[in-house]
Amino acid sequence: MIGNAQKYTLAMNMKLEAVLIDSSVIQKRVEELACRVAMDYGNDPPLLLPVLTGSFMFVADLARKLPFDAPLHFVKVSSYGSSTTSSGNVVVSGLERIDVSNKRILIIEDIVDTGHTIKALLEQIKQKGPRDVKVMSLLDKPERRQVEVQADYVGFVVPNKFVVGYGLDCDEHFRCLKDIYTISEE
Ligand code: 5GP
Ligand code: MG
Repeated sequence: MIGNAQKYTLAMNMKLEAVLIDSSVIQKRVEELACRVAMDYGNDPPLLLPVLTGSFMFVADLARKLPFDAPLHFVKVSSYGSSTTSSGNVVVSGLERIDVSNKRILIIEDIVDTGHTIKALLEQIKQKGPRDVKVMSLLDKPERRQVEVQADYVGFVVPNKFVVGYGLDCDEHFRCLKDIYTISEE
């Protein structure tokens, strides 16, 4: 079997620097988040709305720990132009194929960074008249925030460093690692 991190070390000119969050710690936290969701939603499960692609591993683990049968629909968010400009540059696809009106929605994100993505997604969903919308983000990087948004559920607060693994990529590399790492230039 190939070592966990070894097969990824040659990707691009970036290399894994250090483990920031170990997989056993991630799994324990996902369990806690699932318990919180179970308590908060009771027998009225939300429609899970994971954001591709970074949240795929997180939502797969979370969904299997939920005690109810929650519907799930992936959405894709693309940012055009500078990601540091207005949320008007954020295009959401996938929402047109579902009816969110009068439903409880739980957005599942990998990380809230500047906040532009989640702000734009929230605005677009709210226009469609859901009963309520909440946000769960595996990671939160508050030091980088440019717009005022806060996830309702956060797995871990991380420092202002680029992180990869457990679904998060750097130019499509490192996504399938089970731990979360910081990276550095070779
Ligand atoms: P925001 O709109 O909040 O600035 O950024 C959200 C998106 O940027 C995240 O969903 C993620 O795809 C990407 N992103 C932000 N910070 C990081 C990071 O440290 N690592 C990775 N892999 N992606 C990040
Ligand atoms: Mg994302």
